Amino acid sequence: MQMRERKPDWLKDMIALDRKDLREVKLTLRGLNLHSVCEGARCPNIGECFTSKTATFMILGDTCTRNCRFCAVKKGIPALPDKREPENIAKAANLMGLKHIVVTSVTRDDLPDGGAHQFKEVIRTLKRECPGTTVEVLIPDLRGDWKALAEIVEEHPDLLNHNLETVPSLYDSVRPQADYGRSIKLLKSAKEMDSTLITKSGIMVGLGEKDEEVLGVMDDLLEAGCCLLTIGQYLRPSLEHLPVVEYVRPEKFEFYREKALEKGFSFVSSGPLVRSSYHAAELFAESKTH
Ligand code: SF4
Ligand code: SF4
Repeated sequence: MQMRERKPDWLKDMIALDRKDLREVKLTLRGLNLHSVCEGARCPNIGECFTSKTATFMILGDTCTRNCRFCAVKKGIPALPDKREPENIAKAANLMGLKHIVVTSVTRDDLPDGGAHQFKEVIRTLKRECPGTTVEVLIPDLRGDWKALAEIVEEHPDLLNHNLETVPSLYDSVRPQADYGRSIKLLKSAKEMDSTLITKSGIMVGLGEKDEEVLGVMDDLLEAGCCLLTIGQYLRPSLEHLPVVEYVRPEKFEFYREKALEKGFSFVSSGPLVRSSYHAAELFAESKTH
């Protein structure tokens, strides 16, 4: 496949920013010592999401212990978890008037429980302080520690998300410290712990994967009981990150969406700018109608 670095015009037109709204949300988050994945990962939807007062909180700091080659989040040794973080997220969510709250984290391989306790505290606090909102957690693989996973599942998040990010053949080059089988097992185990839990996953395309590999990932996810799927284009955050192998056309995203629905997913969001938490509230609402 040919390597292309310049974004095509049709993709550039889809990325728009409203700097005033961006500033407002950023100030709210900074004032409470919070981080958003929207900024950390340089998400292309930041203008649209911040304008509609949607954000994905990134707990456990802004520094990750892993080094995925597609990800713009800062790497290094993180600080100790902030005990005030659960309360501060609840404050920010109320200030921003959020109805569906997405909480994710950097991967904390340095913590014995991978950060599960902080997830638990955040879910518990949000349910108490923000009644009427739904809580989605996008969790790391916890290094396959199912006891830590149980701590999160027992808090009954409305939705548990764990991204596979790419097809198994690309794990070594894209996510060298992750393990495809372990991630599938995490989704499966969560469902076994609580069969009423709604699980969700996502991948990026444009990294050199083949169609049949993407379809294979769908089968593995369905087998693990996962019924919600997001598929988006990989965008290179900087020249230090993996190059884009292909800018996948919108028609191909539609092909993936149709195939996934045919296979049995209850809801699929598939498009160039789709990210795990893009239109998360709508996706969650749709999942409840199926
Ligand atoms: Fe980024 Fe997550 Fe990988 Fe850390 S584990 S580098 S936050 S994708
Ligand atoms: Fe933030 Fe998710 Fe929206 Fe991106 S898609 S700006 S990460 S809420």
